[in-house]
This record gives sequence, C-alpha cells and structure tokens, in this order.
Amino acid sequence: MSDDLSTGYWDGARRGALVLQRCTACGHVRHYPTLLCPVCHSDGVEPLEACGRGTVHSWTVAHHAFDPAFADDLPYTLVTVDVEEGPRVLARLEPDTAGLQIGRPVTIGFAPGAGGVPVPLARPA
Ligand SMILES: [Zn+2]
Repeated sequence: MSDDLSTGYWDGARRGALVLQRCTACGHVRHYPTLLCPVCHSDGVEPLEACGRGTVHSWTVAHHAFDPAFADDLPYTLVTVDVEEGPRVLARLEPDTAGLQIGRPVTIGFAPGAGGVPVPLARPA
C-alpha cells in the first residue's frame, strides 16, 4: 500500500495527521500523492501537514463495503471535505449524523481500521 509517493501520507496517518504534498516549484497543494504537479508538471515536492480543518463538500452513504473488513459497519457515511490547504479529501464521518450539511465544518483525523491500517475520519467541528 505504501510506496515512495505515499510514504509521507502514511507516516502522517499513523500519528493521526493528514499529510498532503506541496509543489516546491509553484506551491500547489495536492492530494492524493502524485509524481508530478498537475499545475506546472514539476517533480519537486515536499510534505505539508494539514491543519486538519475543512468543510463538507458532499457525502454518500455506503451500503456495500469496498473491503469485507468494513462489512460489519454498514451502512456508513463517506464525506468529501474541502480542507483549508485546498485539496478535497475523502473520509468516513464519525459519528454518523443526520444533521449533515454542505459547508459544515469538520476536522480530519485518523483511527485504526481493519488490519491496523489508519482510516481517515471526519468529525463535526
Ligand atoms: Zn507545481
């Protein structure tokens, strides 16, 4: 799962931090990890630890687990979050609330998931 591109992300996730990539040539912040900057095509990159704050862009309720390890948790809510640094990230919403709205402030963290792999979690701020 982890490779050279995503090492920074997974190292951060294990200590509960969202680590993004910032282009050292133009400053564009991106997620998910990619080899080249989508704006200027530079391969210069540095890790950027996100502040953990964002707002809900959209959400969906999962009724089918993409991995059998999550089958007992169904149904659960997945939110796309516009983080303050710019990128949009996908996270599971905890606790699952009915009062979800577009633009609602959330914080992003991580919790151990199946097999100990950290899973991104959004919590109402
Ligand atoms: Zn760039």
